[in-house]
Amino acid sequence: MLNLNEKMVTLGTQRSVIRELFEFGKMKAAEIGAENVFDFSIGNPSVPAPASINETAVKMLSEMDPVLLHGYTSAQGDAGVRSLLADSVNRRFHTAYTADNFYMSTGAAAALCCCFHGLCNRGDEVIIFAPYFPEYTVFVEGAGAKPVIVPADTEAFQIDFDALEQAITPNTKAVIVNSPNNPSGAVYSAETIQKLSSVLEAKSKQYGHTIFLISDEPYREIVFSGINVPFLPDYYHNTLVSYSWSKSLSLPGERMGYVLVPASVDDFAQVYAAIAGAGRSLGYVNAPSLFQRVCAACADETSDISVYETNKNLLLNSLREMGYHVVEPGGTFYMFPRSLEQDDTAFAERAKAHNLLIVPGCGFGCPGHVRISYCVPTERIEKSLPAFEALANEYR
Ligand code: PLP
Repeated sequence: MLNLNEKMVTLGTQRSVIRELFEFGKMKAAEIGAENVFDFSIGNPSVPAPASINETAVKMLSEMDPVLLHGYTSAQGDAGVRSLLADSVNRRFHTAYTADNFYMSTGAAAALCCCFHGLCNRGDEVIIFAPYFPEYTVFVEGAGAKPVIVPADTEAFQIDFDALEQAITPNTKAVIVNSPNNPSGAVYSAETIQKLSSVLEAKSKQYGHTIFLISDEPYREIVFSGINVPFLPDYYHNTLVSYSWSKSLSLPGERMGYVLVPASVDDFAQVYAAIAGAGRSLGYVNAPSLFQRVCAACADETSDISVYETNKNLLLNSLREMGYHVVEPGGTFYMFPRSLEQDDTAFAERAKAHNLLIVPGCGFGCPGHVRISYCVPTERIEKSLPAFEALANEYR
């Protein structure tokens, strides 16, 4: 009798729908050739990191004291690194942060886990807006808290405020937002953020405790045609920011990100300590030393993300011409059209028969839709269009 933690066994055994499709795509590619599989399943950036990343890493590897470079850093991250980051964020958002506002993490995933573990006690609730990144529920439950899902506003993928009002209870500890959004590509407008902060201010007051806003922003820089992404700490003083360079610098495998804890949050020192304590209890020790330094040195850069807008325009216009209903993404490299039948899983299965790999929306808490990840070579989109057309024809 092993008596293992069954929940962990399940998480470790069942692949996510996205991973399942990705693996299917690899198998199919071996069978019929990669050029005949239109894999839009996974959010792995398709453009390389800028040359400066490799150059900086090589320079550090050849010139820095290896004992320092490969040694432990402070648990919250190297002080020089955090100071460079504060300068970069201050330049871009006209803020006045210091090194002490940053906690370095292994990607946004660890940043979020530090937030949930640091803020939540057992039984606390965390509000999540559909459609959402599926790992949120895993992370929230892992912290002993309860995810509360607010159904999607499928007209514009902003926020359904009536549904939000109903979801907030005296147990609400935090609300997480992700804009630009995976999977819809929506960017929350300043008006949406203003309204959200008013609701959170009022509810915090009503219940007599702080409700935190966690802004998960790994796609912050990937926005189209000059769209402005509101900087949430400007709107709501109890905002924590979770960031990562996985998407903007095309470094998902290097696992580098941070939690930004603005000094404006209630009881800043306690909150920062809770984030650091969560990192300690989760055994994160410190984020990888080399890439802390590389990311901080290149913090003002992005990879060449222009292909995502080219892909968005091509796919959006083509799908709309074929009769698909798609809300135009403001950023990211995802779009979230309506499935042509209510059962999005059945629809994605029918797409598979055309070698089109798209992810059912139910996994994102928003049935009746499918996610298309267009972080792929533009040529793959061009070649896939007849398959999207043939799929649409099945429903005419
Ligand atoms: N949050 C969102 C919305 C994401 O889409 C992802 C990754 O796809 C993450 C967090 C996790 O990012 P990271 O790879 O930096 O852990």
